[in-house]
Amino acid sequence: MSKSAHIAFIGLGQMGMPMALNLLKAGYDVVGFDLSSEALQALAERGGRIAASAVDAMSGSDVIITMLSDGKIVQSVLLEGDAFRQAPKNALLLEMSSSAPEETRSLAAKVSGHLRVVDAPVSGGVKRAVEGSLALMAGGSEADFEAAKPILGAMSAKIFHCGPVGTGHAMKAINNYVSGAGMIAAVEAVLLGRAFGLDEAKVVDILNSSSGKNNATEVKMNQFILSGTFGSGFALGLMAKDIRTAANLSTSLGLSQPGLTQTADLWDDAARTLGGAVDHTRFYDYLKRQGD
Ligand code: NAD
Repeated sequence: MSKSAHIAFIGLGQMGMPMALNLLKAGYDVVGFDLSSEALQALAERGGRIAASAVDAMSGSDVIITMLSDGKIVQSVLLEGDAFRQAPKNALLLEMSSSAPEETRSLAAKVSGHLRVVDAPVSGGVKRAVEGSLALMAGGSEADFEAAKPILGAMSAKIFHCGPVGTGHAMKAINNYVSGAGMIAAVEAVLLGRAFGLDEAKVVDILNSSSGKNNATEVKMNQFILSGTFGSGFALGLMAKDIRTAANLSTSLGLSQPGLTQTADLWDDAARTLGGAVDHTRFYDYLKRQGD
């Protein structure tokens, strides 16, 4: 896709907004839509065009990017009233939300013949979305992936082609299982160390210089948890959704994976207890309460 491509960007939230701004910065014409009028205003103030509806955004766009909470919302936006038919035939749908792979395959089948589909979920959080250095895992045909690559490159430092449609979303769920399990270990480690009388900041320092380090110890514990800011920009309910997606995938493949099942159950319970809208680093509060 050349720089003259017109891109409809649907979902201008914590991730979608900085991603859309990086596309603008790279010289693409971006027309955004979100249910939030504040988000639309913020995009307009920074040089983006805004649409009155998702259908309006899609009409005349060569590329449609969805960055919504989950695959069900993506399906409702694209399929209700056959909205996707407003996009030109053969337009490229880049489904960048973290959605369930089976939903993505069903969506791709429904829009087949009108839209080309690449699932391209992201990892790296708001910080790397702003920097344009997200990790990106894509699923789709070789030709569609190659067409998507220049656009994806404006938002990402590392792009992987995982296989056919749905494989990007499967990989994203798998990644967030590992990330969510790592968070359990990191939080329990800090709580255990403190209970024994160790200094919690020192526990984190030592983990980060030792074999126990992981993404939670390196980029979440000091920054968002021990600092008390709890402001990573990734909602707890979204993390719980992704780990449940991985658990469902595992079950559907006939696997028995107790670590994954227990991780999904814990995150679901945390979302029920604290509410899904709180920052996912509040998972610390949830585990801390277990010991009180
Ligand atoms: P968010 O809740 O901040 O953004 C979602 C946006 O979608 C909101 O602005 C909301 O108003 C909009 N929206 C909802 N329904 C809509 C509709 N029908 N039409 C148009 N807009 C609609 O979520 P986010 O954190 O930006 O996450 C988006 C996706 O990216 C999720 O699937 C999430 O799991 C994934 N993700 C998030 C992060 C992160 O750090 N926040 C990191 C990687 C992946």
